[in-house]
Amino acid sequence: MIKIYNTLTRKKEDFVPINDKEVKMYVCGPTVYNYFHIGNGRTFIVFDTIRKYLEYRGYDVKFIQNFTDIDDKMIKRANEENSTVKEVGDKYIEEYYKDADGLKLKRATVNPRATEYMDEIIEFVEALIEKGYAYEVDGDVYFSTKKFDEYGKLSGQNLDDLQAGARINVDERKNDPMDFAIWKAQKPGEPAWKSPWGMGRPGWHIECSCMSYKLLGETIDIHAGGSDLVFPHHENEIAQSECRTGKPFAKYWMHSAFLNVNNQKMSKSLNNFFTAREVLEKYDAEVVRFLMLSAHYRTQLNFSSELLDSAKSSMERLYNAVFNLENLLKEVKSENFTHSEKEYVKTLDSYREKYIEKMDDDFNTADGISTIFDLVRDVNTNINAESSKELVKYALGLIRELGKPLGILENSTQNDLEAHVEKLIEDRQNARKERNWALADKIRDDLKAQGIVLEDTPQGVRWHLKND
Ligand code: AMP
Ligand code: ZN
Repeated sequence: MIKIYNTLTRKKEDFVPINDKEVKMYVCGPTVYNYFHIGNGRTFIVFDTIRKYLEYRGYDVKFIQNFTDIDDKMIKRANEENSTVKEVGDKYIEEYYKDADGLKLKRATVNPRATEYMDEIIEFVEALIEKGYAYEVDGDVYFSTKKFDEYGKLSGQNLDDLQAGARINVDERKNDPMDFAIWKAQKPGEPAWKSPWGMGRPGWHIECSCMSYKLLGETIDIHAGGSDLVFPHHENEIAQSECRTGKPFAKYWMHSAFLNVNNQKMSKSLNNFFTAREVLEKYDAEVVRFLMLSAHYRTQLNFSSELLDSAKSSMERLYNAVFNLENLLKEVKSENFTHSEKEYVKTLDSYREKYIEKMDDDFNTADGISTIFDLVRDVNTNINAESSKELVKYALGLIRELGKPLGILENSTQNDLEAHVEKLIEDRQNARKERNWALADKIRDDLKAQGIVLEDTPQGVRWHLKND
C-alpha cells in the first residue's frame, strides 16, 4: 500500500485514489518568462518520478502541468524583449520542452496554457460572484476569504494568524485585507481580455483552479508543487474551487522542498541560480536526477558541483555493473537457470520487494537508490562467467527495472563503452608520444582486464571485445 504525506492533514495516509487505478494529478508548472533553473528542475523531477512510480505500481496517471503565460513577470519580459506576451510565452514554452526533455521528464498528458482558458476562467469568476464568494470593484474582482470558513486549512493557520504574518498593502477597495484578486482590470499598456467587468486579465490562483476543474473534474487525487506554493497559491486555489463546487478540491496535497545554494533557496531573484541547460551541458540527465533523488523530496537539498561529481561517480558504479553483466551475456556457456540459481533468484526478488517497500513509504527515493546499490553489490559478487544466461539476463532486467521509475539506468552502455575506450586509446597514444611506455602498457593491460583487446594496425589502433 502506497502512503503519501498529505500537507492538508499533516499525516502520512494510505493512498486510495477516487477511481480505483486511475490517478488524477495536477502539478503547478512554470511561469514561462525565462529558462527554468535547476531548483524548478528539482520539483519537476520529483513529481515526474512520483508519476512514473505510480505507473510502475499499475496506476493510470492523468498528469496535468500548466504553463502560467500571463502575469507581471511575463509583461515585464515582453517589454524588455520588445515583443508581446504571446511571443514570450511561445518562445519559453518551446525552450521549456527542450530542457524538460533533456532532464528526461515524461511529457504531461496535457500542458494547458492559462491564456487558452480565458472563457472558462471568466465563467469561473462569474460563478463565484453569483454564489456570493466574490465581488467586483471598478473592474477588479476579489475573493472574499471570510466567506470560506475553512480558509487557512492547508497552511494550518486561521485568517487572523495569516493576516498578522502577511505583508499586505492596505487597499481601501477590498472588503478585507486578506481578500485576493481573481480578476484584474487592465492597466495602460497591458494585454487584456474582454469580460463582464471590462477589459482585464485573471489572477494567478484562479488559473490553476480553473484548468484543474476543466481537465480533471471537481475532485482530483493529487495536487502538487514546490513548498513555496502552500500559501497563498494553494490555499487560494482550495478556497476558489471548493466554493465553486462544494466538493473537496484534492484528496492529497504534496509539496517538495527547495533546492538550495549555501542554504538559501535557489531563485531568480537572489541570482544564485543555474539554468537546467547550463547543468545539462556538463552532466548527464541521469546524474542530475540521481542527485535530486538521493534526498527525500520533503528535505531541502544543497546544490553544489561536489555533489554532482559524487552523483556522477555513483552512476558510474551502477553502469559498471550493468556493463559487466552485458559483457557476461556474451561469455556465459550455459543457457538455463540451475537449481541453485532458482533459489538465488528469490534473493534477487527480495531486493525488488525492499525497493517497493521503501518507495511505497511516501516515495523514499533515497532508500530506493540504496536498495539498487545493495542489489548491485550482491550481483557483482554472485554472478560471473559460470552463471547461466538466464540468470545474467534476470539480474540485468531487475537492475534496469528498478532504475526506470527514477529515470536512471536507461542509457545504453555501448555508447558509453565506445567513448570510454576511445578516450583510453587516446591517452595511450599520448603516453607513447611522450615515451611513457609504462603508462601505455598499463592502459593496455587495464583495458584487457575489462575484456577489451587493442590491436595496433597500420591504419591505427583497433579494438574489440574479448569474445566477439
Ligand atoms: P515558478 O516558475 O517560480 O512559478 O516555479 C515553478 C515551480 O518550481 C513551482 O512549483 C515552485 O514551487 C518550484 N520552485 C521554485 N524554486 C524552487 C527551488 N529553489 N527548489 C525547488 N522548487 C522550486
Ligand atoms: Zn498552481
